[in-house]
Amino acid sequence: MKLDTKALRYLTAEDWRVLTAVELGSKNHEVVPTPLIVQLSGLRSGSGVHKCISTLAKANLIGRTKNAKYDGYRLTYGGLDYLALHTHLKHKTLYSTGNCVGVGKESDIYVVADSSGKQLILKIHRLGRISFRSIKNNRDYLKHRTSASWMYMSRLAALKEYSFMQVLRKNGFNVPEPVAQSRHTVVMELIDAFPLRQIQSVPDPAGLYAELIDMILRLASFGLIHGDFNEFNILIKEIEVSSEPGTENGKVDNDKAPRMPDTKFDGSRAIPTITPVMIDFPQMISIDHANAEMYFDRDVGCVKRFFERRFNFVSDVAGPHFADVKKLTAANKGNRLDVEVEASGFSKKMAKELETYMEAIGVDGPGGDGNEGGGDEGDGVHGSDESADESDGEQANDSCRPQNLHVKSEIPIGDIAGL
Ligand code: ADP
Ligand code: MG
Repeated sequence: MKLDTKALRYLTAEDWRVLTAVELGSKNHEVVPTPLIVQLSGLRSGSGVHKCISTLAKANLIGRTKNAKYDGYRLTYGGLDYLALHTHLKHKTLYSTGNCVGVGKESDIYVVADSSGKQLILKIHRLGRISFRSIKNNRDYLKHRTSASWMYMSRLAALKEYSFMQVLRKNGFNVPEPVAQSRHTVVMELIDAFPLRQIQSVPDPAGLYAELIDMILRLASFGLIHGDFNEFNILIKEIEVSSEPGTENGKVDNDKAPRMPDTKFDGSRAIPTITPVMIDFPQMISIDHANAEMYFDRDVGCVKRFFERRFNFVSDVAGPHFADVKKLTAANKGNRLDVEVEASGFSKKMAKELETYMEAIGVDGPGGDGNEGGGDEGDGVHGSDESADESDGEQANDSCRPQNLHVKSEIPIGDIAGL
């Protein structure tokens, strides 16, 4: 979905109050009755509020529902986007939005910038956007689905992602720095890197493979399984290595299909010049999850399969196996990040709700990017089907595909009315 920020500029303080009132009312009403909107807005009843409602409806931030038994409005995804952007603007987390750099099944990714011009990533969760493709046995569950539920679930996905990023980062994992979360959005550090999926060759596949398996093991030792650990969710970042006279500093031309230098030889020892950064956490699970072993094996299998197909690399070490990994977790008893995340506010109940919903809409809980069992092979957006490799970058939504992130922000939205 396009992030159209045009109307942000001309909304008044009253418009924002009315939009917030519709959001509040949505908690208990699929369609929020107009009198309730008036009441919740705290504005005096009269033409003023109705003018706001009409402005918001024209900008598609709220929608009138004709079939309702009473006269009312519901919040649209656009409205929810605006409320989240408004909060980020107020908190000075961001100042401008730029290009869309990625579109997944359940999220849109934009480059944004804060007021100092520093580029960041805005991830907007859109759970349920592509939903009825693989409903499987969940018709009954989804029958009761309302727009309120997709909004709530998208919020949960954002909250979960943000909470996990915080604890992972705090514990030394290589993940983007989380900056802020509002509603269904997360603002985070922009990693200037390519997804592993787009890397055609590395000089030391064994080294990179070992690093990725280490990452999976380290996660497990902290009680976690990524659940979608695949070539789309690993960004390969170059590490700055200072240039010495007469030596190559290992930089590559970022405009071309990358061939990554992953080591530099300084005469005595090899210095790694690339590092994997892990992203995408809404499907992360505890190692105590009922299907933990399956998800763990799938994460390991994804790495193995990709390395064999892309780099012709097969490790001569079997495993790692789930049983051994459980021992690692037990040995690291005091350090359970699954427990820490719970303590930070993303409760077990929320985790269960989100998981049930993701399964119902075909995100398959863990595995949302479409690795084996992920349920979206061939959907053209993300899929691990190797036959699609050559057309990498020619994914379904051409205007919105993952790309090199040296993008200048384009649409200033900081200077708007009503802040
Ligand atoms: P989804 O849940 O839709 O798969 P991801 O978080 O995996 O969303 O992001 C989709 C794509 O957007 C990634 O493959 C990557 O190209 C890009 N991306 C996401 N987060 C970042 C980031 N912090 N820095 C740079 N690129 C990112
Ligand atoms: Mg992803």
